[in-house]
Amino acid sequence: MAAEFPAKFSAEFSGRLLAWWDRHGRKDLPWQQQRSAYRVWVSEIMLQQTQVTTVIPYFERFCRRFPGIQDLADASLDEVLSLWAGLGYYARARNLHRAARICRDQYNDELPDTLEALQSLPGIGRSTAAAILSQAHNQAHAILDGNVKRWLTRHRGIHGWPGKTAVLRELWQAAEALLPGRRPPDYTQAQMDLGATVCLRRKPKCGACPVSDDCYALQNDCIEQLPERRNAKPIPQRETAITIARDKHGRILLQRRPPTGIWGGLWSLPEIGPDDCAEQLGLRGKSEHVLAPFQHTFSHFRLLLQPYLLECAETATAVRSGTDLQWFAPSEWRQLGLPQPIKKLLNDLENS
Ligand code: SF4
Repeated sequence: MAAEFPAKFSAEFSGRLLAWWDRHGRKDLPWQQQRSAYRVWVSEIMLQQTQVTTVIPYFERFCRRFPGIQDLADASLDEVLSLWAGLGYYARARNLHRAARICRDQYNDELPDTLEALQSLPGIGRSTAAAILSQAHNQAHAILDGNVKRWLTRHRGIHGWPGKTAVLRELWQAAEALLPGRRPPDYTQAQMDLGATVCLRRKPKCGACPVSDDCYALQNDCIEQLPERRNAKPIPQRETAITIARDKHGRILLQRRPPTGIWGGLWSLPEIGPDDCAEQLGLRGKSEHVLAPFQHTFSHFRLLLQPYLLECAETATAVRSGTDLQWFAPSEWRQLGLPQPIKKLLNDLENS
């Protein structure tokens, strides 16, 4: 079914959606209070790949510490990452920080207020830019986040994997065609709420759906098939060794990871086995232990981690320079933005 319908349909469609939102929509989310472009931006970035209930405490902590763009721009990346630790997809935090510095230096501590300028900032795509402008500046722009893609493919009967350029183009056309000129912030939120609370991935609540009367997928009994999935490939698995080098004062040796790639820019355990510690890092161990392996799943692969504990004989202060390595006492590494599974491993070791 193509995304074509009479022009007046959009007014009628948005009327149904807005009336539903007035009665059932979410109106007490923290970023809807004291609404500003900055707060909407932070929330939109956190909500990419992450559910509202998970985001709320992170958002509140983040905005307490960085109430405005300048506070965020002036902070160190380490501090930003430490407040992000546990949310995952750390490129989002690095981009947020970089974009805040651009806004401080080029836009007088403000976010720009056009689609083009917003999209030129790191980490802001078309849908995020549109969501910021509609919610903070009352501008009418179509959005197309994961929730909207789901109900839109079902309602309009759009087939094909939404990651394909042609399908994406069709989705944008449909989202634009439905866009009303009135109440931009509410219409944006209503679309998100429809996907998040009614048109769920599994078992959508079609009986409570305000647009069920003309839903293609409901009428054609193909809700389960939409949105279509990419031909599923098995997720590859990688294995790696990590070493917890601990000196006689209980300090742990950590290494800052490269700025890109998994856990980019975060402090983590050196990704080498204990034998390589002597050769590559110049560490001498008193004893070594093999700990239980564990698995962590990323979006595109699974990582099997084999941890080792290397107890170092002396106060091991000497590590080779130029390796981004540093010793941290427990009170210090707890303050760092460590990847969640690494933090858990160190906490478990401390408590054992
Ligand atoms: S009727 Fe069901 S499948 Fe269609 S948009 Fe509503 S909740 Fe989604």
